[in-house]
Amino acid sequence: MPKLAQRMSRAKPSAIMLIAEKARQLKAEGRDIISFSIGVPNFLPGPHVYQAVRDWLDKDSGQYGSNRGSKPLLDAFLEHMKGSGMDGYTAENCAVAVGAKHILYNLAEALLDDGDEIAFPTPYWTSYLDIAEILGAKVKLLPCPPEQHYKLTPAQLDEALASKPKIFLFNNPSNPTGMVYTKDEIAALAEVLVKHPDTWIITDDIYNRMVFDGVGYHNFVHVRPELRERVIFVDSMSKTYGMPGWRIGMMAGPKDVAKAVVTLNSNHITNIPEVASVAAAAALSGPQDVPTEKCAEFAQRRDLVVDALNSIEGVECPRPQGAFYAFPDISCAFGKSHNGKRLENDVDVCTALLEAKGVACVPGSAFGEPRGLRISYTCPAEQLEPGMQRIREFFAELS
Ligand code: PLP
Repeated sequence: MPKLAQRMSRAKPSAIMLIAEKARQLKAEGRDIISFSIGVPNFLPGPHVYQAVRDWLDKDSGQYGSNRGSKPLLDAFLEHMKGSGMDGYTAENCAVAVGAKHILYNLAEALLDDGDEIAFPTPYWTSYLDIAEILGAKVKLLPCPPEQHYKLTPAQLDEALASKPKIFLFNNPSNPTGMVYTKDEIAALAEVLVKHPDTWIITDDIYNRMVFDGVGYHNFVHVRPELRERVIFVDSMSKTYGMPGWRIGMMAGPKDVAKAVVTLNSNHITNIPEVASVAAAAALSGPQDVPTEKCAEFAQRRDLVVDALNSIEGVECPRPQGAFYAFPDISCAFGKSHNGKRLENDVDVCTALLEAKGVACVPGSAFGEPRGLRISYTCPAEQLEPGMQRIREFFAELS
């Protein structure tokens, strides 16, 4: 009997999807479930996006398109970058793929040889580990515990880069913590990066338009332009524009890296689906009301969620300043019991919370930080307060 490739023994289904699936199952059984588990936006793109698609469908040629990305989409992406202070890039610096996840997979394939090292902070977005493991890379985790507000320090980075990892993968604003690095923090990390010329730097900044409190979005190339030679900026239409299913992600960086992604595209997918590219170009270049309004709404929701969490004795939640996640330290529950069930770890807490209160969260261990759990607060508005109230009750009932 032929066997699957060895790499498939390292491939795991997403832990986030497993929890979401369990929540869906309970819902199908008639339970009243509030889901804080999946990180999808709760809104649709603006009407101009749908109109652009309708207009395009009228004249669709049905032919293959560009494996780098359509010109209108690349132009719109370059304009967005210029607007956020990253100018001087051309289409040759860019590539589009089927979502940021596909960009990241392509980049890992393009930059890592077997056994090469990739370093990234913990908590991390789950797919970083999965992609590295499928490709047989060596992973160096840089633990950023709640006490340091889940942020990497320059000293940690300096130490991590001493072993010359091939890639340093950085995520700002962060999924799962929602933390955002200030300009000074980015500058301090950039000072370290310039001293380590052997490492590619991927900045997965897909939540860059979702930053609160006037902190602003900052990239290493803003403060140290010479890092452009090694920084690869990753962006996506999924979260800020309410377009996760359209599957469009983009990158900008050195020309040879963009070309490598284009080469992989031409072998994997031939071209980025044209209809999705039309929608993405319209969203990026049209009115920005949707991302702007949603950002303001999420900042308010963040306050409600974080205040509720921090009002629970023993729970601590550093205040996120971006994306739509909160990541409280819930380790105070370990060793306690709920309804006679002993809770040993984050998975026990999430399972008991789902079963007893019908609230779905993701265990922190899915992101490499087992003291936490992730709350994604994009649920329907009317569920937010009741959901937080149920969490408060759950912790109050621990004995
Ligand atoms: N990077 C981060 C940090 C994410 O949170 C996600 C999606 O959850 C992605 C990348 C992937 O985004 P896309 O939908 O564009 O593939």
